[in-house]
This record gives sequence, structure tokens and C-alpha cells, in this order.
Amino acid sequence: MSRGVLIGIAGGSASGKTLVAAKIYEALGPDGVAILKQDSYYRDLADLTPEERARVNFDHPDAFDTPLLLEQVSRLLGGEPIEEPIYDFTRHARSERTRRVLPVSVVILEGILVLAERELRALMDIKVFVDTDSDVRLLRRLRRDIHERGRTVESVLSQYETYVRPMHLEFIEPSKRFADVIIPEGGHNRVGVDLLATKVQAVRNERYAEAEAGVAPGRAPTGAPSTGRASNRADAGNRAVESDRSRNPMRGDLPRGGSLEVICGPMFSGKTEELIRRLRRSQIARQRVVILKPSIDDRYDVDHLVSHSQIKIPSLQARSARDVLEHGREAEVVGIDEVQFFDEGIVAALETLANEGRRVIVAGLDMDYRARPFEPMPQLLARAEYITKTLAICVTCGAPAGRTQRVTHRGERILVGSSEHYEARCRRCFDPPREEGAE
Ligand code: ADP
Ligand code: ZN
Repeated sequence: MSRGVLIGIAGGSASGKTLVAAKIYEALGPDGVAILKQDSYYRDLADLTPEERARVNFDHPDAFDTPLLLEQVSRLLGGEPIEEPIYDFTRHARSERTRRVLPVSVVILEGILVLAERELRALMDIKVFVDTDSDVRLLRRLRRDIHERGRTVESVLSQYETYVRPMHLEFIEPSKRFADVIIPEGGHNRVGVDLLATKVQAVRNERYAEAEAGVAPGRAPTGAPSTGRASNRADAGNRAVESDRSRNPMRGDLPRGGSLEVICGPMFSGKTEELIRRLRRSQIARQRVVILKPSIDDRYDVDHLVSHSQIKIPSLQARSARDVLEHGREAEVVGIDEVQFFDEGIVAALETLANEGRRVIVAGLDMDYRARPFEPMPQLLARAEYITKTLAICVTCGAPAGRTQRVTHRGERILVGSSEHYEARCRRCFDPPREEGAE
């Protein structure tokens, strides 16, 4: 696994750094990118009295639990999930809950003082300072605090004079000299954001290439000489613990809220292509992906999903729903093609995998060649969070086609094959087979 890319974005209060972070996130596409906020790492002040709390300087570096931030950023970049604290600003305390952040290939760390900490800077691949004039920032802050937080003009200004401005001049502004890039005017600077996104992408690709070639990643603390891919596994001892846990079905490091996605439609509608597209994105996001298909379907290639347009991705064969459950538990993302060919137990197996926190994506025929619902698809569709219905093109008239026409006359319902036996038809051109009584 390649080491993640860290991009640090600092800037004064209301400078627009959050927007810059969001725009970079958007430009990179959400897969494999996480935004961390320095604000989440404010120290827990639950033990202070209200008067003591009122005197705390939230713009000073000491207000943050930087050791925890450092530890979590390093772990995330090294490929481990973290529990990001959730800060409750009304109580100035850490909430009981945390936010699980899965390992990603790009971490965007955003906060007023992220460039002011030497150790954090040392982890960063790209250091950005969002530079916005102080009058603009004060105006924004006045507006925001009055409208959104119900504060008075007087209280905002006095806070600005007592804390925000002096800390800006003492810590934030001087940290600008460490930036690789200074972005004027924040997130509305399209060119700046695009350049940054391109640079992040380039560094990320370099990392992938290094990992592929077995080169130890630039700043990773590996003492041993690198020997191929094994080098990444050779670092810390807790790695082994981590991967042992990954085999346990009740693993603690799965995302909360698994889900079931169903892609359905007739043959030739692009179900396999769509499934492969989603699975590739998960792989790019460096999630653990398992790809399965029923072993009954051995057209083309035994260990790949292959679409009618010859797009393919390596896969494993599963003989039963039990197989699916077993293989699925090795992964965070489980993809299955031709899911309609599994036994009835597949519904329970997929529900279990999703309930345990996995993203389960399945593709399958929703109707058989008689246009009757193809079990277990109705069961899966009812339980899915996300449903995509794909349509093909009717070979007779060119309209969108939702039916699969069988063009040979064999009795059995499951006839695995492709264009020689089946074609896509629309509702009007579909001609239901008449040999009903013959079976
Ligand atoms: P599915 O998994 O739904 O059977 P695939 O993803 O394997 O579909 O294949 C979709 C591809 O099949 C299309 O991108 C196109 O290249 C090709 N194709 C062949 N016949 C048709 C058709 N009648 N309508 C749409 N696409 C077709
Ligand atoms: Zn038609």
C-alpha cells in the first residue's frame, strides 16, 4: 500500500480555507480523500468553570491537542483507520462520539494553525496558505457570528481585538512563510484550486507507482531496505495485529452504516460495466475490495468479470451464498455480478455483510426471458439503499430496452450465454415465449 498524500491548508479566521479544502475535495472526487479539521482537535475543557472557559484563548496553538492530531494524521497516512474526535462547541468538550475515518490516499488537513506546527509541517506533501485581507475576514466574521451564532457586534469585535487579531499576527501570519503555495481570495480562486488539485493528483500517482515498484515511500519510517511489496508489511509490529483483526467478522474498523446497492436491468444494459466502474473507484480509494461471481457463469473468462464490451476486472468464483459470506468478510467493499444466479440464501448473506458495515454492490438481471421477476432480485431490491436500473437499446426499434428476448427455444430457465441466444428488446417489441405448457 502506498503512503497517503497530506495537504495542509492554513489561513486566518474566515479566510476561506474551508472552501478551498471543499473545492479540492470536489475536484479530486470524493473517493479516497478525507478532510480533517484542526477544530476537531480542540482540547476538552469540560472540567473548567464557565468563567475559566471564557478566558481560554481559542486562537492560540495551545488550545489544540496537537499530539493527538499528529498521531491520527500519521496513522491515517500509513493506512490505518482513525477515530476523529467530535468537538462540541456549545460545551467546549469532546463529545462521546467519534467519527471513523478510513484510510485514504489523500488527507486534506485544514485549520488556522496547521502550518504553525513544525511536526505537522514535516508530514505535509503540499503546504497551502489561504491569504485574505484582514478587513475582508473581519467583515465575514462579523456577518457569520451575528447571523449564524446570534452574537452582538460588540462581542464579536472585542473577541477580535483581544484574541483573533493578536494571535493572527503572532502565529498565523508568520506561518505563511512555510507555505509552498499562497492562494489569494480562497475558494473562489478557480485557477489556484485547479492547480492544487492537479498537483495532489500527480503526487498521488507517484505514490502508487512507487508502491507498485516496491520503492519505500519517501517519508515512511522504514529502517529495513525495501524488498518489493513486502516492504510495507515489514514496518510496525501492530500491522500484523491489524491484518489479523481484518479476518474477524466482527472487526471494529469497518465504517458505520453499511449499505446494499443493486444494479439491475436486462442483458446488454451495462450492468457489468457499471459494477466494474464502481469497484475500480473503490480500489483507487484503496479500500479492500472483493469481487465475486457465481461459478455457474463461466462464459469468457473464469476469473474476471467481463462485460459485453470486454471491460474486465479480476474476480473470484463463489459456489454458494455461504461462499459469498465467507469471501465478503475479508473486505470493506463487496461486488457481485450475476447475483440472480445465487441460491435464496444470498439475501441473508448480503444483508449480513451490509449490516456489519460493508458496502455491498450487486448487479443482476431483474427479469428472466419471460419477463418474470428473477428471484432473488425482488428481495434484494426491497432491501437495497440504492437502486440503479440500466436500460439497453432495443435491437428491433432502437428504443430504450428493459426486456431480454430469448431468440432460441430451449426449455431451461438458466441459459448462460450472450448475443447468440438473447437480445435486448423494448416493451413493445418484446415477444414473450409461448412454450409455457411444454415445460
Ligand atoms: P450487462 O452486464 O447488463 O449484460 P454489459 O455491461 O456486459 O451489460 O455490456 C454492456 C455493453 O454491451 C454496452 O456498453 C455495449 O457496448 C454492448 N451492447 C451490445 N448490445 C447492446 C444493446 N442492444 N444495447 C446496449 N448496449 C449493447
Ligand atoms: Zn423496440
